[in-house]
Amino acid sequence: MTFQQTETLRAGPDERGHFGAFGGRFVPETLMPLILELEFAYAEARTDPAFQNEMASYLTNYIGRPSPLYFAERMTEHLKGAKIYFKRDELNHTGAHKVNNVLGQIMIARRMGKKRIIAETGAGMHGVATATLCARFGLECIVYMGSVDVERQEANVLRMKMLGADVRAVDSGSRTLKDAMNEALRDWVTNVENTFYCIGTVAGPHPYPVMVRDFQCIIGRETRDQMMQSEGRLPNSLIACIGGGSNAIGLFHPFLDETQVLMYGVEAAGHGLNSGLHAASLAAGRPGILHGNRTYLLMDGDGQIEDVHSISAGLDYPGVGPEHAWLNSVGRVKYLSATDEEAICALQLCARLEGIIPALEPAHAIAKAIELAPKMPNDHLMVINLCGRGDKDLANIVSYLGGSKR
Ligand SMILES: *Cc1c(COP(=O)(O)O)cnc(C)c1O
Repeated sequence: MTFQQTETLRAGPDERGHFGAFGGRFVPETLMPLILELEFAYAEARTDPAFQNEMASYLTNYIGRPSPLYFAERMTEHLKGAKIYFKRDELNHTGAHKVNNVLGQIMIARRMGKKRIIAETGAGMHGVATATLCARFGLECIVYMGSVDVERQEANVLRMKMLGADVRAVDSGSRTLKDAMNEALRDWVTNVENTFYCIGTVAGPHPYPVMVRDFQCIIGRETRDQMMQSEGRLPNSLIACIGGGSNAIGLFHPFLDETQVLMYGVEAAGHGLNSGLHAASLAAGRPGILHGNRTYLLMDGDGQIEDVHSISAGLDYPGVGPEHAWLNSVGRVKYLSATDEEAICALQLCARLEGIIPALEPAHAIAKAIELAPKMPNDHLMVINLCGRGDKDLANIVSYLGGSKR
């Protein structure tokens, strides 16, 4: 590792939103006043005990936190190595970790007096979480979603509509998450006065990556307390999937300075890293600017954003949060990737051994745990972030398996 052991890895970003050479805010001038207003509102809320108490109450009584840290006994016996735990964030209200962040941003929007909320969504989980909290607080909700994703995540589209959201299908580009995000940014520039843009991952211009991270850190803080309770010591390794990287950084961040804790982020390798059909920005990308920040991106020779692929709509994004780009460059977190096929196999194994159907996204993390755990001693404590449940993916999985009885 190249970083200094004496420095904290949890201090970033700097005041302009940089994590080393990554992050920042590359936005049109019209957005700057709003971004500064948001930065100010967030800085104020962060240290306001009333805000913290209100958040804590909704996290407990509406979202259902803390989520359990569960010992996956049969998975552990099967893999014959590390002792495996699941952090059960799929049990949150709305079925994924997204709601931790959306609650925080909606509370900020309320403080700022914004009544119109816009969001982008890929798998639809962020859209559902946003539609849910907008319903709860009586706010207008508009969700942009690539038309490809509208088709493959039909159940979530129906949920958003049921909750009163206006779901707008985006037909430009690859018609997936990146295009939905472009459209949301366009809306924001046009409607700056009354609109709050609720971003679903640790991307976008500063202060979004740090704000979303802070809201997701509850995952890692709970894991830390729960592991101390059950095992009396810290975990030895943490594994999480990476779309933009919000569930992963939420688990990792509270442990970053514990240099003995190994961390693995798992990107989507789609049909394979050499196939050209994947979404592994750190493994196969290079630095560039997209959606207001500098990070690793999948680009062609001219710097145009490439079409990406993953069986999991939530990982289908050509970039990655800037803090992950930095953690990769300093060597603190190891980034791996799992293919569609590996994720499907891992999902099936988890369903049969533990009676838990994970979403396709965390199935990528489970796939790498299946590889890593057998190489570890029995006293190695491994935590996998189970950041979402598989209900939304069933039709997709069945069609991938082609009706076979695998
Ligand atoms: C959105 C989503 C992801 C990807 O987003 P991150 O910001 O990387 O966490 C992963 N898993 C689930 C279940 C999701 O809904």
